[in-house]
Amino acid sequence: MRKFIIAGNWKMNMTGAEAINLATALKDKVKSINNVDMVICPPFTALVPVNEVVQNSQLQLGAQNMHWEEAGAFTGEVTASMLINAGCRYVILGHSERREYFAETNQIINQKLRKALSTELNPILCVGEILEERKAGITEEILFDQLTECLAGIALNDISRIIIAYEPVWAIGTGVTATPEQAQSTQAYIRQFLSRKYGKEVANQIRIQYGGSMKPDNAEELLKQPDIDGGLIGGASLKADSFAGIIQIAERLSV
Ligand code: PEP
Repeated sequence: MRKFIIAGNWKMNMTGAEAINLATALKDKVKSINNVDMVICPPFTALVPVNEVVQNSQLQLGAQNMHWEEAGAFTGEVTASMLINAGCRYVILGHSERREYFAETNQIINQKLRKALSTELNPILCVGEILEERKAGITEEILFDQLTECLAGIALNDISRIIIAYEPVWAIGTGVTATPEQAQSTQAYIRQFLSRKYGKEVANQIRIQYGGSMKPDNAEELLKQPDIDGGLIGGASLKADSFAGIIQIAERLSV
């Protein structure tokens, strides 16, 4: 069985002090969790202080973005080595907000993925369709293109380090969740894509998260689906109670 991975994307929220408080409260609430990978992704400015809080706990640190170059004149950007140095083990890449507001293309995301994989960072690759695409019945075609282009040139021995987050864009931050059946059938399609590209054995090892208004109320039905191996959580990760609530559901389903 694949181990659940629950990751919190704090987006552009939390000052250093607020982030320390949230991470401290969360650390206390999840101290008895043993069977779930737990990741929190604060904004860049809070990585170093939050890293101190999560030392000697099962909580792991991730970032929300990075640049693909090693160093240089890229004002406002950060490198993979800076993230590793700040304590990160994960990095979210290709989030729909980066695609929409910062013009990130599949080709840019591919460069970032390759860079992350050349380091010790584990990338969380976000893919997903917008509402018009779902309504037009072309979700699988959109995912096929995103996966083909984002994973171009990614070798077999690197692919199992990638976590895929299926995030229907119409479900992000809207309170509208994909039904468990919609999420399952789309995530089964993603696994089938991976199986065709990398073989069944490897595809069965890759973890595919669901993201889009997941909260304690709907997490159980989603996490019970065979191809949903965790969650990428936005809004509900900003409160220790709700994020820990989702983690506790994953823990219960794991034993
Ligand atoms: C996200 O931003 O990745 C996300 C899933 O947000 P929310 O949980 O708020 O829908």
